[in-house]
Order: sequence, then structure tokens, then C-alpha cells
Amino acid sequence: MSSKRDYYEILGVDKSSTPEQIKKAYRKLAIKYHPDKNPDDKEAEEKFKEAAEAYEVLSDEQKRARYDQYGHAGMGANGGFGGGGAGGMNMEDIFSHFGDIFGGGGFGGGFGGQSRGPRRMKGSDLRIRVKLNLEEMVNGCEKKVKVKRFKQAEGVTSKTCPTCGGSGQQVRVTNTFLGQMQTATTCSTCQGVGKVADKIPSGANNQGLIKVDETIDLKIPAGAREGIQLQVRGKGNDAPFDGIPGDLLVLIEEEEHDTLKRDGNNLHYDLYVSIPDAVLGASKEIPTVNGKVKIKVDKGTQSGKVLRLKGQGLPDLNGYGKGDLFVHVNIWTPTHLSKDQEAYFEKMRDDENFSPEPSKNEKSFFERVKDMFQ
Ligand SMILES: [Zn+2]
Repeated sequence: MSSKRDYYEILGVDKSSTPEQIKKAYRKLAIKYHPDKNPDDKEAEEKFKEAAEAYEVLSDEQKRARYDQYGHAGMGANGGFGGGGAGGMNMEDIFSHFGDIFGGGGFGGGFGGQSRGPRRMKGSDLRIRVKLNLEEMVNGCEKKVKVKRFKQAEGVTSKTCPTCGGSGQQVRVTNTFLGQMQTATTCSTCQGVGKVADKIPSGANNQGLIKVDETIDLKIPAGAREGIQLQVRGKGNDAPFDGIPGDLLVLIEEEEHDTLKRDGNNLHYDLYVSIPDAVLGASKEIPTVNGKVKIKVDKGTQSGKVLRLKGQGLPDLNGYGKGDLFVHVNIWTPTHLSKDQEAYFEKMRDDENFSPEPSKNEKSFFERVKDMFQ
């Protein structure tokens, strides 16, 4: 167990102090380290809790007697703190003392010291998925999407909440051994807004919201990618009584391309050429994310040749340039031949010029792969 500071030392009083002196000392510390005066100050919060724990014990005649005799050890199982140090007491417990210490209303409006007024409601976010093809991801696009969202109904009016009188808080007063205790909770009628609907148009719920179908124009910037989430501010659900509307969150999904295969930022395309085109050379049109382009198939192109079109891939998400488009050349072998055509190929078969000689002018598959990545 970690060593704990002496409760008298914490409050700056001595063992012979009267209950009145202890109360006075605690009151001073509670004001000094109050969270409202020290927002986001962890050290002050710890001191605040520590003082509250010391006061909890020393202000109780029986607990004080046990503490005087056994020290912190006497506070274990039955001491009310479960041995967990100041953390055993939560802020609500601490603020519950204030009715006693501050006479039921001297601090922060008397509600546990937390000076919060009515709050503005925030509408919930809506989530949708949108599929984009490669061209749309690379170039950006505009899309119309339909969403069902809660909208503030026309003609809805509000009035002050009859339960909390507009404060958004409900105060509960109970009697404890420490005296009268006040706790503040969020008003259950208005959920803390301080207002409730007055005139509600037909079809709207009791917060004056109505569910509508809305078409939203999405402007998707270039460079969107699978898994990226875009945020359209204010297009989620409206909040009641002119609160802050939620957002529409758009999750991007990739639609598979008919002919281009993506591998990271690079793209791959299978080009099929006829035997005459491979033998004689040709100009071929191929698809890219930037539209169709013409490429030259050289005379005597071998099957499996890979052509690399630099910069025709996808832009790198981290801004490191662009990927490439690799065109894989496949020679298309005809499968249905007429008698005449068959005779034609038979004649070619006998010609020595048509015999494969890969060692002479053809690179192996592995060499081609190596070339691809140079
Ligand atoms: Zn209320």
C-alpha cells in the first residue's frame, strides 16, 4: 500500500482541533482547489479529493476516533474508502458535502459547484457508404445521395421547461448524517436543454423533429480512396430547438474496375493483340484513369511483354508522385479456323522462320519482371 499523507497534515490542523476548526480548514482548501477554479489541473483535482477524504474522516466523530487510534490502517474495510485512497471518493460524493460546508447554496449556484446552464443539443451523425470507381477516385466527382434524416419541423415552437424552469438541471435534496445534501442532475424532462416543444406540427416527434428524405450533393475531392471517411458538416440529424445539427459521414468504398486492376498506386491492364498485330506492329487504344490513350505495339512484340506507362496510375496519398500503368501484352490465338486458314498455318509451321528461338531475342519471364521494376 502506498504511503498516505496524514489527514491532519492535509487539512493543516492539529490533533486537538475542534470540529469547527476542521470545517473551516476544509472549507478554505475546497475553495482553493475547486475544479471550477482550476479547470484541467490534475494536481488541484488530487488535492481537492485528498482534502475531501480527510474531511470525511475527521468530521465524523467515530471515524476520527478510529483514525486517531489506528491511523490509515483503521480506515480499511469499514472506513468507507475501500483502501483505494482518494480515488475511492467520486466528485459527486465530494460535492454532496457542500450543502453542509457552504450552508446549502454559497458556491457555484449551490449545485455541486458545477456552474453549467442549459446546454445546446447536438444532433447525431449519419453514416453512409459510397462506391467510387477508379476514375472517380483519381479525378474527384460529384454524387447525389439520398439520406433519411431528422429535420426540425416547420412551425415548431418551444417553451421553458416546466420541470427545471429552464436551468436544465434538477436538484435533489436529501438528508444524510452530514446534514442536508444537494445533488444536481440533468433534467429528465428536457434532457438539459431547458426547453420543451410547445406547438408540434403533425408528423413530428415530441422534440419537434420530423424524418425526411433528402438528396444531398456530395463533392468528392480527387485522391479519395477505399476506407477514407469524408465529413459533410450539418447534414446529419438536426438537433431539437435550434441545437447543432450532426454531420453526414461518408465512407468511401472502391468499385472494381472492368479492365484495370489496382495494386497499390499501380494499375495493370491485359492487352490482347492478334498474331498479325504482334508480327507486324500496330497502334492500340487502351483505357486509363485519365481516358483512353493510344500506345504503339512494336513489330515483332512477344507475348508477355510488359509496357509501362509512367504516371498513369493513382496519385500517392502521401504526395509521393503517382503510380504507373503496366500493360501486359497477350497474343490472341484464334480457335476457329476455316479449311483455308488451317492450310495457311500448316504452311507457316513448316517455315523455319516461325520456330521459337527464345534464347536469341527473348528475355525470360523473370528478366521481364526485373525490367518492370527498374
Ligand atoms: Zn428541464
